[in-house]
Amino acid sequence: MRAEPDRLIDFAVCTRPFRPQGPRIEAQQLHGKHVVHHYGHGGSGWSLSWGSARQALPLILATRDRHIAIIGCGAIGLTTARVAQRAGLRVRIYCKERPPEVRSSAATGVWSPDSRLYTEEHATPPVAAQWERMARSSFKTWQSMLGLPGEPVEWHDAYVVSDTPFEEPLPDTGPDEEPEYAELEERVRELRPRLVTLRPGEHPFKAPHARRFAQLVFNLATYQRLLMDDFLREGGEIEQRDFVHARQIAGLRERTIVNCTGYGAKALFGDKSIVPVRGQTARLIPQPQVDYALYWRGHNLAMVPRRDGLLVQAQGPHDYNNEDTQVDRALSEDAVRRLAGLMA
Ligand SMILES: Cc1cc2nc3c(=O)[nH]c(=O)nc-3n(C[C@H](O)[C@H](O)[C@H](O)COP(=O)(O)OP(=O)(O)OC[C@H]3O[C@@H](n4cnc5c(N)ncnc54)[C@H](O)[C@@H]3O)c2cc1C
Repeated sequence: MRAEPDRLIDFAVCTRPFRPQGPRIEAQQLHGKHVVHHYGHGGSGWSLSWGSARQALPLILATRDRHIAIIGCGAIGLTTARVAQRAGLRVRIYCKERPPEVRSSAATGVWSPDSRLYTEEHATPPVAAQWERMARSSFKTWQSMLGLPGEPVEWHDAYVVSDTPFEEPLPDTGPDEEPEYAELEERVRELRPRLVTLRPGEHPFKAPHARRFAQLVFNLATYQRLLMDDFLREGGEIEQRDFVHARQIAGLRERTIVNCTGYGAKALFGDKSIVPVRGQTARLIPQPQVDYALYWRGHNLAMVPRRDGLLVQAQGPHDYNNEDTQVDRALSEDAVRRLAGLMA
């Protein structure tokens, strides 16, 4: 891997739309419309998009409208639109931004179905069971996209390296602003191949401990284009619109409105439970020969071999409840230098 800061070609910041109680999938009568809320997917929006849209679908179909509107053209809006089209509905998307400008485009692009999705206290058994249905249904759809032109979805080997044995808890680094998130992936463990612990000499990294697993990678540039093309080919329409007040939905032609505004729902629909969790990604010039992902445990550092570049994701110290979307170039440059330090 050519981990050199001057090979960084693009930076992006996005705020994960995190709700401690998890995504809102709920119907409401509002301003004379049937509104179906579908937002708040934290750090799991891409991973769960298909399964989550299938949970919203019965609420949409219950309105009996054949022509519906969706507000939002990010991961959740576009996927909900495709699921609704497959169910025979005509869909018009209204949105302020469309890909690649949407926040979803800034994501890492890996299967991370329980990342910053619920706090531990909210992951009750019924919630966990609902999550499992979403995760399994999504995973199945992702597998159906392997091998398509442009490789929208791929499997890669991934290494997680650690300074200390994996069995040992990480050293306490002081107060953490982030809450305890629910860890649910154990419920769907058999979906991915087993994690393998490697001995020194069995991996090339300058770290004393390493494990290998298989990671599902979403090449978001190709994948978003595929979603858009499929949506438009099946008669979908997109209209640019910036809603300032929720009551503006009263003026829309459609009677059923699906609210997929992500973090935008905080301002537009007054949902004060949404917490922005800032995240920054950056891309190094593509290197197709690098075909593995790399995670450094305890250092909040990841590299994912996407087709549009080696994606470097580093978490900053105060990202929780931080809606600042200014790029911090030094953060990504430092992350690249730290990656370089791991390469033998
Ligand atoms: C750094 C980072 C890495 C991540 N990595 C992953 C990952 O690897 N895997 C994963 O599964 N998830 C990941 N996520 C999480 C994922 O990106 C989000 O859950 C997902 O993008 C949310 O999608 P969304 O469609 O709800 O929101 P958005 O992408 O924000 O889309 C919202 C849409 O609504 C529109 N909108 C909003 N307000 C208005 C308004 N007032 N009027 C008109 N239109 C409006 C916007 O224009 C946009 O079209 C990551 C997030 C971050 C920050």
